[in-house]
Amino acid sequence: MKGISILGSTGSIGTNTLRVLERLSDRFAVIGLGAGSKVDELAGQIERFHPRVASVHRDEDARALRERFAGLAIGTATPGMVDVATHPDVDLLVSATVGAVGLVPTLRALEAGKTVALANKETLVIAGEIMTRAMEASGARLLPVDSEHNAIHQCLTGQPGKTVRRLWLTASGGPFRNASLETMRGARPAEALKHPTWQMGPKITIDSATMMNKGFEVIEACWLFGVRPSQVRIVVHPQSTIHSMVEFEDGSVLAQLGVTDMRLPIQYALTYPERLPTGLPFLDLENAMRLEFHPPDLDLFPCVRLAYQAIETGGTAPAVLNAANEIAVAAYLEERIGFLQIPEIIGETLEHHERREANDLETVLAADTWAREEAQKLVAVPARIRFSARRAAHAGPPK
Ligand code: MG
Repeated sequence: MKGISILGSTGSIGTNTLRVLERLSDRFAVIGLGAGSKVDELAGQIERFHPRVASVHRDEDARALRERFAGLAIGTATPGMVDVATHPDVDLLVSATVGAVGLVPTLRALEAGKTVALANKETLVIAGEIMTRAMEASGARLLPVDSEHNAIHQCLTGQPGKTVRRLWLTASGGPFRNASLETMRGARPAEALKHPTWQMGPKITIDSATMMNKGFEVIEACWLFGVRPSQVRIVVHPQSTIHSMVEFEDGSVLAQLGVTDMRLPIQYALTYPERLPTGLPFLDLENAMRLEFHPPDLDLFPCVRLAYQAIETGGTAPAVLNAANEIAVAAYLEERIGFLQIPEIIGETLEHHERREANDLETVLAADTWAREEAQKLVAVPARIRFSARRAAHAGPPK
């Protein structure tokens, strides 16, 4: 039996992970569950999976759960999440929180030598260098759950090193793939939340609509696979059937195809290097199918350029990119800013940032805090910032 903990257990990846685990209950024991504020859902999961440790965001929620589940260790906030991630009986952590909150517990799990199935891409965006160093020091393994990186991991397995020319991340294009700038200018959150092919939480769905999600995935790929930003390319593939591709030096391209259900990459990461039946439908190759590829329109999606700029700049710039994005997306969901102001606010925050080396957690977290404050100020005075941010967002194509 392998011990498993899930951070973000009530989110989209977390609940899918538990569905996978229900089928694999002879192989995995749930040791820990970490949630935010969906306490009733967490209580239901505790009743079903009997973890030994749990965590929630707020103290009052933890108190209520302690009354209900005697003998269960229940912590709060970051220390509670660290306990879930690093419990001695945990072999594998599924890191599936949204945004920066997962950073410290995921890092502590890697330091403790746990295998981490990573769905929280922001963790690598913010602190890729620190995470990579921690992993090398402890010998821990990081397995990508993000469907694109999971596909690339599958395509690279068994291939000789240093033969990769480029990684091709496929992008559905999101709800605004064929939209005009005018449509996007007036887009309300309800429209941006309609993703054509994947069912996901609100934050990542907005990141898909702006294509910042793809920008983050470029940064994530650089750290996971040790490639330069210029080796990571994006191709729009509306069917989302090919989950990503690897182009080798000899001109061969390997692709991974499958149904669009996150249980597939989740289970691959949980059981790697084994492959087991998932109970999911198989890809229908008996009937006619069309697979299309288009280059992305980076003028419509300036977030992609901002992400390439941030990873080229390196140091604390990607952490600032992420923090400013979190603030801008939250402001957009609250209808405090328009859709097109999301990249403006991020671009302006990056312009104001003084880059530092990202060698230690304190520096990275300080950059994160600074960027949140800066972006909040910009949210409060949106009209003033438009011009210079637009300039920053269009400062040349990625190399
Ligand atoms: Mg993805």
